[in-house]
Amino acid sequence: MSVIYTNEDTGERYTISVVPMDKALEMKQNGQVFYDYTKLTAINTCPTYGVLRYAHHKTEIPLNTSGRKMALECGHACHEFYAALRLWTLLNDPNRRDLYFQERVMSYGKKMFGEERWESMGSIPQDSDRINNAQLFALDALHSSGFYDDPSDRKRTMSNMEAACLAYTHRYFQSEMPILVQDDFIGIEVPFVLEVIREYTNATRTDIAYYCGRIDGVQTWGDHAVVCENKTSGMSIASSNAWRMAFAISNQVTGYCVAGSALLDRPVTQAFVMGSQIPPPRNVFDGTIFELCTRTDSDCVRWCEWFFKSVGEYEAYVARPTYAPRYSHSCNRYFSACEFIPFCSSPREDQLMYLEEMRIDEWSPLDHLTETAIEGAV
Ligand code: SF4
Repeated sequence: MSVIYTNEDTGERYTISVVPMDKALEMKQNGQVFYDYTKLTAINTCPTYGVLRYAHHKTEIPLNTSGRKMALECGHACHEFYAALRLWTLLNDPNRRDLYFQERVMSYGKKMFGEERWESMGSIPQDSDRINNAQLFALDALHSSGFYDDPSDRKRTMSNMEAACLAYTHRYFQSEMPILVQDDFIGIEVPFVLEVIREYTNATRTDIAYYCGRIDGVQTWGDHAVVCENKTSGMSIASSNAWRMAFAISNQVTGYCVAGSALLDRPVTQAFVMGSQIPPPRNVFDGTIFELCTRTDSDCVRWCEWFFKSVGEYEAYVARPTYAPRYSHSCNRYFSACEFIPFCSSPREDQLMYLEEMRIDEWSPLDHLTETAIEGAV
């Protein structure tokens, strides 16, 4: 399964193929570096930050409550709700009542949530209407996600997340976009690893790098497949264009279209970014937006160029982080001070010692490449 994009001006050709999960795990164990959107964005935000945080896994954030990354935790918990909601639609699809299909979905859900949580979700009474039943089922996933309120964050509370998720369900059911199920493929929380090859016209060189990620939903819209990306946002998403415009050319969205095309072996040119505002606005239904994004082959070529440019920047400084450029315009991104300001303020000769003393905090989307996840992915 692969797709090819060509830069008509330069003749550069990009071939993108799906790496099976078991092979990816083996490569990971053998030290292969995989790039995901977060890592590459960090490199482009500031090479020093990207290399310290995502290559050396260093952090200066203290291990206490105030060090919680509430936006990430809240997003993660809500994603459990979204995944459960998608699973519910499959389990309750009137056209798919056959035992084999139902058992496949049950087994997929069990692998995703673990036996105990899945059992709890399955025990939720289903004696109400369709939307209410789905909400109750998915709320159990939200409540068992491990999220707990932080007194210093009054926006991202369980109660606000519940309200946003309930409003999201109404919008979700209006959209009529069934989950795509094709052979062994179930379009919910789809992990992927792509091999990206760049070939030059004069064939003097070939570059290979690996991109990985996870698609929240692969669904059917009309007669074609779309990729769906859920987003939670603390900003108003309905009243300004700023939120929508963030996805107009987003490399993250393009990457999902590229991955969807490779996974399904046919072009996937459209994506829905499904935004949920937390806390929801006064009119809760204004807090959910499904933004349609379209990608052309030209966008995919640009994505490949962005990918290799970012990988090149990473490779240039991974072994010599004290020589990575300091993009000082990023030191107070999102209006909070970068955790590495003390490191960056130190003389270069002291920085290696400083590096040794920093705490390690490693996370990668490939963490899900465990035996269980691999079974769940195929
Ligand atoms: S403090 Fe500034 S220069 Fe240093 S890593 Fe952070 S963003 Fe980059």
